[in-house]
Amino acid sequence: MSKPRIINIISNRNFESKKTSLELNEKLTDRGFIVKDKYDYNAELNICVGGDGSFLRAVHKNRFPKIPFVGINTGHLGFFQEILPENIDDFINKYINKEYMVEEILLVDAEVCAKEKCYYLSGVNEIVVKGSRSKVIHLDVSIDGNHLENFCGDGMIISTPSGSTAYNFSVGGSIIYPSMNTLQVTPLAPISSKAYRSLLNSVVVPGDSIIKLKLENRYTNSTLIVNDGVEFKYDNIDHINFKISDKKIYKLNFNKDMYWSNLRSKFL
Ligand code: NAD
Repeated sequence: MSKPRIINIISNRNFESKKTSLELNEKLTDRGFIVKDKYDYNAELNICVGGDGSFLRAVHKNRFPKIPFVGINTGHLGFFQEILPENIDDFINKYINKEYMVEEILLVDAEVCAKEKCYYLSGVNEIVVKGSRSKVIHLDVSIDGNHLENFCGDGMIISTPSGSTAYNFSVGGSIIYPSMNTLQVTPLAPISSKAYRSLLNSVVVPGDSIIKLKLENRYTNSTLIVNDGVEFKYDNIDHINFKISDKKIYKLNFNKDMYWSNLRSKFL
């Protein structure tokens, strides 16, 4: 007997997404798949229905699974959600005929070291360090043990290549093609004056680098860590180390030119 082919559908709760999920469920079932709306670890594919935010939540909630994702976009133009609801039939045919590539998505890891212990986070788009009470923060920035700057400003974004078109892009960071093995360190409203000299541009670092942000003592309890849009607060943070994660997630890509057309349609 052949192994059952299980597919998870992970949908947000808006009307359009629920309608699309029902349609998907029917069409996949007709083609012999077993469709689950409760996450099944034996599935061969995760289909996420919603916008980019739904994709990010699905990845975090299911702890960065190895099962590949594909996104059906019912939100605004999405970077992770490449299939439109009207193209579901075409998507199912291409999936069955294996007409796709599997793309790796790099993640960023943060080791947040407080006085007593360290905490670990992984992000898909970016991890941001910023002041929790709209105050300027001071950070000592080093790359692989080399002191780069004493930063002063709103905060710092450490973004992945896939996340470079998200928050990073809005604050003037560069667009990095998703397959490139790099992280980008992007300042949020850097202050550059006679008193403080912070780099105004982002720095793109090699994939094996460790980026260290050391907090000045008076900011250790007034700093927020924002992971893919979700806030975390820790007491007595001393420093945070960032690196490319050993974990990866996977996404099916049905059109190799999609990235460039997405860029044009979203930003130009
Ligand atoms: P959300 O749904 O309001 O998303 C904000 C916007 O970011 C949406 O337009 C979404 O399509 C876009 N986006 C997300 N990931 C993207 C990517 N990789 N490339 C291009 N656009 C992308 O908020 P959420 O659901 O909580 O999503 C969290 C993300 O929002 C964060 O990871 C962060 O990158 C982004 N964000 C952006 C800004 C900004 O641009 N000023 C500020 C805060 C957060």
